[in-house]
Amino acid sequence: MTGFAHKPLPFQALVITGAALAVPALSSFFAPEWMTGDARALIWLTALVPAFLFAYYKGWQGVLVALGLALAVLASVHVALPLLGSSEPDWSLLAGVAVVYVGVCLGVGILADLLHRARYEAEQQALTDTLTALPNRRHAMLVLERAFAAAARGVPVCVALFDLDKFKDFNDCHGHVAGDQVLRFFGRVLKGYTRAMDLSARFGGEEFLCVLLDGDEEGALVFAERVRQRLKTSELPFDPVTVSCGVAAYTQEMGTIEDLVAAADKALYAAKRGGRDRIVLADPRPVSSSSR
Ligand code: GH3
Ligand code: MG
Ligand code: MG
Repeated sequence: MTGFAHKPLPFQALVITGAALAVPALSSFFAPEWMTGDARALIWLTALVPAFLFAYYKGWQGVLVALGLALAVLASVHVALPLLGSSEPDWSLLAGVAVVYVGVCLGVGILADLLHRARYEAEQQALTDTLTALPNRRHAMLVLERAFAAAARGVPVCVALFDLDKFKDFNDCHGHVAGDQVLRFFGRVLKGYTRAMDLSARFGGEEFLCVLLDGDEEGALVFAERVRQRLKTSELPFDPVTVSCGVAAYTQEMGTIEDLVAAADKALYAAKRGGRDRIVLADPRPVSSSSR
């Protein structure tokens, strides 16, 4: 994702935009007595209202559209008035109002851009685990919701739930800082093996959840096995930590994403009971072990 999401323009915003542009245009034709002296410039400023609305909903692009609309209405009215025999165009007013439009829109656009960026970064932070820089549990659940909806329409979805083995003992032996290093390393391993269309997240303390889209159980098992093997070749200056994993595929009987995660969790539990350092498919049937 390169930019930030814009909100759709609600119907009320379009109505307000139409009204804000219509007020100076219609006043010029039907209430020329209002469009005299300083009041003229003030009434023409109502055409700036859409710039604020569009900035909120669409950012810079919206501001440019609103500026274009305001300038188009301003120019059209000043061309139409003499054609209808009303009055000669007031070029100084036209130029002055146009300069104000451009200046205000520039300011509104810059401000909207800064605010949209700040909001985008805050949203990204809220979805990211600070230790590993992987997506966090909240992010994983959002992706899983979407994957689940796709699975219900026939797209195969698998999840792999990893849990580092005897990690409490590792922390007790090497300290929390070393434990954090292992978690970061495991995060890098997962990131390296995860396809762009999939998602690997830190699900909790030393638990990680991978959402694997559009692939069968065999593909998920190959992925999990690669991760399990890679962890054994850690460059960290400690005895390598091992990992257990439960893999589950979506089935139609599953009503919620919790059912899918629970199936993977059950398989993970079986892997732990089976001796750890192994992968179990949610049957549960063991498919990989430290003896392989
Ligand atoms: P098992 O093989 O059954 O999973 O045993 P375990 O020791 O890994 O499981 P347990 O749930 O008993 O302990 C999990 C440990 O993970 C305990 C906790 O200190 C450690 N842990 C959780 N989050 C962090 C973290 O952010 N940093 C570090 N260093 N350790 C963490
Ligand atoms: Mg655990
Ligand atoms: Mg553990």
